[in-house]
Amino acid sequence: MGESRMQTILLIEDDPGDALLIREMLEQQGCKAELVTVERLSAGISFLQQHSCDVVLLDMNLPDSSGLSTMTRLLDAVPATPIIVLTGLSDESFGVDAVKSGAQDYLIKGDIDGRILKRAMFYAVERKKLEIALKQTRDLFERQARIDYLTGIYNRLMFSELLEAEQQRARRYDTELSLIMFDLDHFKNVNDSYGHNIGDHVLKEAAQLILDNIRSHDILSRWGGEEFMVLTPKSDQNQAGILAEKLRCLIEAHDFGDGLHVTASFGVTQLKTDDRADSFTARADQAMYLAKQNGRNRIELR
Ligand code: GH3
Ligand code: MG
Ligand code: MG
Ligand code: MG
Repeated sequence: MGESRMQTILLIEDDPGDALLIREMLEQQGCKAELVTVERLSAGISFLQQHSCDVVLLDMNLPDSSGLSTMTRLLDAVPATPIIVLTGLSDESFGVDAVKSGAQDYLIKGDIDGRILKRAMFYAVERKKLEIALKQTRDLFERQARIDYLTGIYNRLMFSELLEAEQQRARRYDTELSLIMFDLDHFKNVNDSYGHNIGDHVLKEAAQLILDNIRSHDILSRWGGEEFMVLTPKSDQNQAGILAEKLRCLIEAHDFGDGLHVTASFGVTQLKTDDRADSFTARADQAMYLAKQNGRNRIELR
């Protein structure tokens, strides 16, 4: 039984009589876990921040906090710890609300015995484990949907969302917004000469090199195979052009390993009044294409 593996139970309860009842119930059940009792929410939170604890039994009306916010404050402070709320007979609906807000369960004081308490704790711990595992999976999926698996930078989907947001921001605050698109030159040759793994390595290292050399509010993303976008808020075309030239030099000068060098061609453009996302990115693409036509390893503005 999972209960036997419990080591610490925290009881946050300001009524000494209620606290004693809980203690006696656990003792009757032969519970080996240490029961720590505190009377205030603040004391409970600081205990949980310093000690590991399997489950919390929480009276919601305490000297320093009352009502549902007692539970939500505790949950915010220790989101990974299962919470069972203790309510009075007259305020059972608070228990329901507490569960809806993230508590694992509620028990009505005066209506519980040791076996019910023990089972509630067991299920609370198991449910919390499931909840955490589910959240981790969801976070992973959300990350995978937005991050390019190879380079770890934003993918095209995320870029489109950020582009939309930055466009709106630029219009609302009447600020400049520019876009740099670049594409590695003759990258097919890199794959053909050195193999696909080295090609992958170059893509990763190029992404990191750019990331290390742009400002924190500039947005780098992988647009396609060996094509990248840098969105530069609060920059006009000339400023973005200067950044593009800096990035071009960085790539050109970088040793990607064993003397391997690559170059890139850059297109730079600035958001216009009547632009939509697709016309904006299409112009950056046209400028980049021009840079290819005009000899590669260069930047063009449009
Ligand atoms: P250009 O200067 O005109 O851009 O020439 P290019 O060879 O770079 O252009 P092209 O579009 O013909 O080839 C792009 C190459 O990029 C071909 C493709 O295999 C490679 N590529 C795209 N994505 C990846 C990737 O994830 N990993 C590796 N290793 N190569 C990739
Ligand atoms: Mg109380
Ligand atoms: Mg290319
Ligand atoms: Mg390409």
